Amino acid sequence: MSEFLQTPLQYLKGVGPKRAADLQRVGLTTVEDLLYRFPLRYEDRGHLQPIASLKPDQRVAIAGRIQSARLRSTRRPGFKIFEALVGDGSGSIRAIWMNQPYLQDILKPHSDVVLYGTVEARPGLQILNPEYELLDVTDADAADGESTTIHTGRIVPVYEKAGAMTGKMQRRLVHAVVDGLPQDLLDPFPEEVRQRLSLPGRREALVEAHFPRQGTPLNLLNAFRTPAQIRLIFEEFFIFQMGLLMRRRSAARETKPTVIRVDDRIRESVRTVLPFRLTDGQRTALKEIVEDMQKPTPMNRLLQGDVGAGKTIVALLAAVVAMENGLQVAFMAPTEILAEQHYLCLRRLLERSRFHVELLTGGTTGARRRDLLARLAAGDVHLVVGTHALVQGSVKFHALGLAVIDEQHRFGVMQRATLRAKALHPDVLVMTATPIPRTLALTVYGDLDVSVMRDMPPGRRPITTLVKPESRRPDVYELVRDEVESGRQAYVVYPLIEESEKIDLKAATAMADHLAHDVFPEFRVALLHGRMKQDAKDRVMRAFARGELHILVSTTVIEVGIDVPNATVMVIEHAERFGLSQLHQLRGRVGRGGHQSHCILLYQYPISKVGKERLRALADTGNGFEIAERDLQLRGPGDFFGTRQSGLPTLRTGDLLRDHSLMEQARDEAGRYLAGEDVAASALQALRETWPTRFGLMDVG
Ligand code: ADP
Ligand code: MG
Repeated sequence: MSEFLQTPLQYLKGVGPKRAADLQRVGLTTVEDLLYRFPLRYEDRGHLQPIASLKPDQRVAIAGRIQSARLRSTRRPGFKIFEALVGDGSGSIRAIWMNQPYLQDILKPHSDVVLYGTVEARPGLQILNPEYELLDVTDADAADGESTTIHTGRIVPVYEKAGAMTGKMQRRLVHAVVDGLPQDLLDPFPEEVRQRLSLPGRREALVEAHFPRQGTPLNLLNAFRTPAQIRLIFEEFFIFQMGLLMRRRSAARETKPTVIRVDDRIRESVRTVLPFRLTDGQRTALKEIVEDMQKPTPMNRLLQGDVGAGKTIVALLAAVVAMENGLQVAFMAPTEILAEQHYLCLRRLLERSRFHVELLTGGTTGARRRDLLARLAAGDVHLVVGTHALVQGSVKFHALGLAVIDEQHRFGVMQRATLRAKALHPDVLVMTATPIPRTLALTVYGDLDVSVMRDMPPGRRPITTLVKPESRRPDVYELVRDEVESGRQAYVVYPLIEESEKIDLKAATAMADHLAHDVFPEFRVALLHGRMKQDAKDRVMRAFARGELHILVSTTVIEVGIDVPNATVMVIEHAERFGLSQLHQLRGRVGRGGHQSHCILLYQYPISKVGKERLRALADTGNGFEIAERDLQLRGPGDFFGTRQSGLPTLRTGDLLRDHSLMEQARDEAGRYLAGEDVAASALQALRETWPTRFGLMDVG
């Protein structure tokens, strides 16, 4: 019975309406939510060691009573040490916690605790910063009358605290639930696949993943590689991949109203537009794209190429092919500034063609907007460049044939869907400069064909990247001055982090003032940020592009796509706050012309050792693919794109990094299964229930 898993947590013993509301706030509503929230790690508390037997450097679990405790000040102002003496009859040992004064309210004398940590030899034996857990009588498993508890005497799961729910609370709840799991729990995972892979059934897997039987190897558990864990991760991946496959299949059944043809006349038209020789990468990508366009089913292709690789021109040439076939093209960019820039660039390139290019953003209002919408609907506008304003309901096309989505990772998948829904089934080309690591490509873009451009337009010089502490700021200004004096331009970028948007904006504004008045009074300095009115932004951007401004102080709005070849210096303030890929994108704003360019990563304290290493790594390589893999490892997939809106699946048991080989296996298995004779109704049911809410993606069709 799967209804059991749908039981609201509120009905569990010990969970009232208030606690249930707390849990709901952190995304836990049903028993299923609870059971599919894995432990962070596992500890073997089955072997509690007598304190008298402890030796240095052992990782141990001990249980005992707190004999005394105190909070100690140190010579460092504000730095406190909490110290407790714990005894178990065989002996006693000191436990020490740095800078956690609140522990004095938790770990009080006479309470019983389990400590888990590493024994140290200095000065006597002690345990530094151990994991701790209070034991209390109610934990005893009174029901079966045994003296074992849930929290000790076994391998115990350690959960992450979630809102008002402590790890210990979850352990208690999960224990109760697991005990009551019906024997005939419905299993959405197809029996035949499960058998072939020798994975346990759902019930057994759930029990073992939370309360592993004694003797389960701890290293396997903590690597999430026991059969039980693999089975639950695989279940999630399998359903996800099945959904991707089905979506892909339904896309393959769609047919376009107009099939694109390419003849000599069109080839000639493309050649006329082309301002330079394409690189090999560009030529291959264009060929793949145009081949897709000539098929009766809609194109779904991702064009991946590092910053500055020259994706825009490839998209434009594809657009010319579509327009020559009487179709309209929508070109969508993530920011107004970038849309504007694309617009200016595309319009210039199409100047001598018969095609009409227009710009549609949030700033296009009133009569201009009404007029533009009418011309779009009538088919008088052939290419429209815009922001997400393009996907609004009032925008109607006469014959949308191709949708180009630039810097795709900035858009939600929903927008891609909406844009596609505007026409029957337009070709879709999404472009990204964030090189998607292979691991993620399999999931995020699992339903897209991929073209990769690995080469760069000729004549690019590698950018010199320097990592500097705040104290070297004067040197940085000297470099900026030298460059500007020799006719170049510079960017100074400030991070803009959501929570502190106002503060950062103030910092950027103050910095622009400071640079303009105190540091570079002889240069023209301007400020650009996302909160500015559209026409103010445009004015600044245009002036910078024309070389009328020397230094552009900006928040990260310039991150994507801006193309001013004369700019040769990029100073990034608070570089420690950015992700590697984002830094790489920012760096890509320079090095676009024939001059040697510089990127300076200014960092401020506090910065961790890892943080500094990260910046050095960026300085050492200009290869976006390497950087992306690094970034993914350092930050994890959730943060990789910076937003939840990125189209990444929300995984609850699997981890894209840790489990990527399972994801590949799941894709193969899902393909084989769907190709087979009978697909179990329960698997499809799970797919239908799971997909929309859990993976946050659109309909699987
Ligand atoms: P991105 O891939 O980052 O979007 P762009 O399309 O903005 O890169 O191109 C970066 C710069 O390189 C632009 O100034 C563009 O005109 C130029 N460019 C692109 N392709 C070529 C080429 N084949 N030869 C010379 N310059 C090129
Ligand atoms: Mg671009």
